[in-house]
Amino acid sequence: MREIVILGSTGSIGVQALEVIAANPEIFKVVALAAGGGNIPTLIAQAEKFGVKVIGVSQGGAQARELAQGIEVIDGPMAATEIASIPCDIVLNGITGSIGLGPTLAALAVGNKVALANKESLVAGGDLVSAFGLDRIIPVDSEHSALYQCFMAGSRGEVKRAILTASGGAFRDKQDLSSVTLAEALAHPTWSMGPVVTINSATLVNKGLEIIEAHYLFNLPYEQIDAVIHPQSVIHSMVEFVDGATIAQLSPPNMKGPIAYAMGTPHRTARATSAVDWTQPHSWTFAPIDESRFPAINLARHCGKLGGGLPAVFNAANEVAVASFMSGEIPFTSIIEVVAGTAAKLEALSGSIMRDLVDVSAIEEDARQVARSLVLEKR
Ligand code: MG
Repeated sequence: MREIVILGSTGSIGVQALEVIAANPEIFKVVALAAGGGNIPTLIAQAEKFGVKVIGVSQGGAQARELAQGIEVIDGPMAATEIASIPCDIVLNGITGSIGLGPTLAALAVGNKVALANKESLVAGGDLVSAFGLDRIIPVDSEHSALYQCFMAGSRGEVKRAILTASGGAFRDKQDLSSVTLAEALAHPTWSMGPVVTINSATLVNKGLEIIEAHYLFNLPYEQIDAVIHPQSVIHSMVEFVDGATIAQLSPPNMKGPIAYAMGTPHRTARATSAVDWTQPHSWTFAPIDESRFPAINLARHCGKLGGGLPAVFNAANEVAVASFMSGEIPFTSIIEVVAGTAAKLEALSGSIMRDLVDVSAIEEDARQVARSLVLEKR
């Protein structure tokens, strides 16, 4: 029986993880849950359904205690970090945003494995996370789960490059992005995800974050990480080896596959997701990314190569810019302008060394302040 702790249990990844667990009660047992607190009744219902004895909420502790009968409630801003420190077989971190970094570090510090869906942990705190070694981190991001599986086809010295696939987001085929609306940006063609990730897919910032994530997760130089548009989102990523062979991992787009793989590895969980139906015809296409319409890729690569605090700046500035777009303050195309402007102003932070979470938070706060001032200029 594998004991699982889930962080972000009421979000998209958390809910799907619990569905995988509910379908496989002989393999997985939930020992603790944590959530932001925006949906306490759902969190309590999850805890009751899975017989969980301890939950964490960053907000809404009083309401949680009132509703939770016989369940210990940990509340406050450190709740997810405390829950992540509970000894278990694997902590699934499904938190969105760089607030997921503290819990990732806490889980690794006590020796837990981490099934990492929180890519910002690696983008904002890649050096801190990788200091624990990479062998206890199993990616949940579909592309990185695919790479993790494809890497097994050869030795590390035989890897030529990793190729991340990108659906292209909501505006893959749209030439003029200057007047797109929030509703249009939230309509993702192939994946059903939370709102911030969906906006990040439309700007391709998500792919930029994933390039940085791959750099830290697999200790690969940026020159060996490429991205390609693959609109059908069936081939989740590929690894090219020195002999010219390319190994791909494919399955219809559904996060339950990578979630189950990360929670169950090295074993595969039966029927985690549906397989490709070979009785039907399929056409899978690929195209290079139009970098003039989607400058996020080169910007992410630039920030990644500069290193130090710049990946954290890229992510924090984007969090501010996306929130400003969602509240109607700036147009869609200004999201990446704000991120680029922030990175340019704070380029000196590439020399900063991050020793702990406090250093990361300070850099993020600088980035947020600069990004907010740029948002005000653009309103
Ligand atoms: Mg992904």
